[in-house]
Amino acid sequence: MKTQKTFSIPAIYWKAIMENDPAFDDQFFYGVQTTGIFCRPSCKSRLPNKENVRIFKNAFIALEQGYRPCKRCKPDGLKLPAEEWSQQIMEWLDIYFAEDVTLEKLADTFHSSPYHLQRSFKRSTGRSPLSYLQQKRLEKAVQELLTTNRSVADIAGAVGFLNTPYFITLFKKKTDQTPAQFRRGVNHNEAKRTSD
Ligand SMILES: [Zn+2]
Repeated sequence: MKTQKTFSIPAIYWKAIMENDPAFDDQFFYGVQTTGIFCRPSCKSRLPNKENVRIFKNAFIALEQGYRPCKRCKPDGLKLPAEEWSQQIMEWLDIYFAEDVTLEKLADTFHSSPYHLQRSFKRSTGRSPLSYLQQKRLEKAVQELLTTNRSVADIAGAVGFLNTPYFITLFKKKTDQTPAQFRRGVNHNEAKRTSD
C-alpha cells in the first residue's frame, strides 16, 4: 500500500483561500493537485478540496513543480520559469564576469533576494551562480594565458579576480598547474610540435 503523505496547510492560509483575501497575495500561492493549476489566494475560482491544496512560497516553486498558472488570476504575471531566468542570469554573467559581482548585486540586478536567486539558479542548473561565475573567469583566464603575453596578475585582474594569489591557488586547484606553468607547458608543447 502506498503511504499517503498528508500536508497540513496553515489555518491562516486556508482561511485566506476561502475568503479570497488579497492581503495574502504576495505571501503565498496555492496549487490544486488534482488540476495542476496554481492561484493567488485572492482568486475567485471554485474553492478546492483542502486535501488537494499545496502551498507555495512563490510562483517559481509552483512552476518548478509542474503547476500551471491559473488563467484567471495570472499568478505568474511578473515571473519567468526558473530555467529561462537562470539562462538570463548566465548570459548576464558571461558579459559582466569581470565586474565585482556578488550574490547581493546579482539579486539586485534581477529584482530578487539573494536567497531566492541562489536557490532557483541552483535548482535549474545544479550549481550556484558564483560557481558559474568562477568557472567563467577561469575559462577567460585560460584564453588570456594562451593568446596574450600579459602577466598573471594582469590577467587575474582582467577576468575579475581582485586577488592574484587567490586566482593562482584556484587555478592550480582546478588544473593541477599554476597559470605560469600552464602557459609554459603550452608554449613548450607548441615549440615541440613546430620542431617535429
Ligand atoms: Zn486562479
